[in-house]
Amino acid sequence: MPIEPVEKIWMDGELVDWADANVHILTHSLHYGLGVFEGIRAYETDRGPAIFRLDDHIDRLFASAKIFMIDIPYTHDELAEACREVVRVNDLPSCYIRPIVYLGYGEMGLNPLPCPVNVSVACWPWGTYLGDDGVKHGVRVKISSWKRHDPNILPPAAKGTGMYINSSLAKVEALKAGYDEAVMLSTHGHVSECTGENIFLVNRGTIYTPPVHAGALEGITQDSIFAIARDHDIPFEAEHILRSDLYTADEAFLSGTAAEVVPIRSVDDRELGEPGPITRLLQETYFNAVRGLDDRYKDWLDHVL
Ligand code: PMP
Repeated sequence: MPIEPVEKIWMDGELVDWADANVHILTHSLHYGLGVFEGIRAYETDRGPAIFRLDDHIDRLFASAKIFMIDIPYTHDELAEACREVVRVNDLPSCYIRPIVYLGYGEMGLNPLPCPVNVSVACWPWGTYLGDDGVKHGVRVKISSWKRHDPNILPPAAKGTGMYINSSLAKVEALKAGYDEAVMLSTHGHVSECTGENIFLVNRGTIYTPPVHAGALEGITQDSIFAIARDHDIPFEAEHILRSDLYTADEAFLSGTAAEVVPIRSVDDRELGEPGPITRLLQETYFNAVRGLDDRYKDWLDHVL
């Protein structure tokens, strides 16, 4: 999906023109893949653009940085304000927001500790990540031959830039095989997550999602799904899931900031069919929540104006 340029990007405290938001070729993170980032969305509401669960995303950015011993040279509030500022200054009713903390120019070699720490926040208009048809009718997924990170190889709790090589391997494999998305298993063989989304199944009215120790990132959308399920008295459990559990599920869906809430219509060519009632209810409630149309979830919105 090509990026549609906007006017300004926040870089180390300054708003710079989109075309000038460049880095040196010896930027440390470019070579060794150590950086942390977030993916956030702002949605159009009747009070102007609102960023969804901004504080939770900034908290996770700091947690990711802590895991990798990267000292972010800004406070939580400064980075939250940088996110609001880029949405405001680019005059976007809705957009995707990408804060990134990276190790900059000036040091080389594998010890990251002496490296300068740079931060930028970009935003751009971004439609549905897995396609409008996927949101409506569901996506076709395939179990990847690539395993998810083992927590003692790369910590899944961190949203680290280089960790996404693993996701890209699985994504390309799935796309080349004609599927929309990959489902990744843990090194122990349990369902973990998709390349950039958490995964859920529904059986006899209960929602199941893999436990954290199956290696998934703890999604903020996933947490929103838990809250919505609770408010609708739908039971949910974090339990190990086998690939065959997905084949025989009543319903399955995935969740992520970019992807939002997307039904799964088949897994390894085992048809689950059109989205089921629980998936539809959660999806509809989520879309209302992010747009400020459901008072129960107003606290999740951070209005930029
Ligand atoms: N897993 C991975 C690997 C991801 O990249 C994402 C997207 N950040 C998610 C799950 C979903 O997380 P969230 O709902 O916070 O976007």
